[in-house]
Amino acid sequence: MGEKGGNAGGYLVDVNAFLKKQRDIKKYVPVVAKKQIRILLNSSIYKYKGVDLAVAENCMNLITGYSGVGKSTLLREYFPQYFNSYLYINQKPLLGNKNSCVATVLDLSNKISELYAKKHKKDKKFFSNLTGNDGMCPVCLGAGYIEYGGDYHQSMRVECRECEGTGFNKNLKKYKIKGKSIFDVWKMTLDEAIDFFEDIDKSITKVCITASEIMLGHLQIGQATATLSGGENIRIKIMKASKSTAKVIGVDEPFKGLSNIEIDAVANYLNRIREKGKTLIVIDHSTGVEDYFSQWIQIENIDNRLIGKQFK
Ligand SMILES: [Zn+2]
Repeated sequence: MGEKGGNAGGYLVDVNAFLKKQRDIKKYVPVVAKKQIRILLNSSIYKYKGVDLAVAENCMNLITGYSGVGKSTLLREYFPQYFNSYLYINQKPLLGNKNSCVATVLDLSNKISELYAKKHKKDKKFFSNLTGNDGMCPVCLGAGYIEYGGDYHQSMRVECRECEGTGFNKNLKKYKIKGKSIFDVWKMTLDEAIDFFEDIDKSITKVCITASEIMLGHLQIGQATATLSGGENIRIKIMKASKSTAKVIGVDEPFKGLSNIEIDAVANYLNRIREKGKTLIVIDHSTGVEDYFSQWIQIENIDNRLIGKQFK
């Protein structure tokens, strides 16, 4: 099956060509660890009494350990106690309101509305599908779907026919840029958007290129965030983390379920974040990923203390 996810994936590819590409990946050489940060904590969380391990500063650190040993607890609960400037990223859905889509989480929706407003000399609200704005679909109030059911029954979502799931007022279909309305843009994938925005807006193009590099190019601009997989959620969060001021970033299973090509893309992107002076601490089980890391730490639960043993 194909190498990409979502709508772009699932097609048949030449198996030999695909396997060759998988084998031909040339992994970067991780930097040599210079300084260790020893994390020694004696606070109790759940059944644990504390932690003792060292991570390499300004490096890619890999943490492994048997299932249920407490790796996520370490990243989610203990590290914020130790590091003043820390960001934790996992596969959980992105926070947002019910109208949030790929464009809103990647901060593109405002920019796109502004482009159309400027071109057609209208107020930005005229091209915004946010609830209460002029460009909102009057039937679904900008959500793009209608929800049936309520407190006692499981609710069901049906795409809004009026706005074709975009959340926009259909009057906006007649306003175009390069022959495309905002409806058309909402249905574009991020890969398609690279070509469309290339000569219109550099900042939008840049976000789309980055998304494509981290294997998210198949996502639709107007795709609801509720439909994203855990792997897609975590990669969007990683994209956003590149702008974070946190000095230490903990990432919980970014490679889970990915092909070698995708793992390589995500590891390269994480390493680029590291190059900005950050320390990365990653939990993962995928085979072969240790090559991307300067330091590999195996976690063990010894007398309810999480102890790290260095492999590399
Ligand atoms: Zn609608």
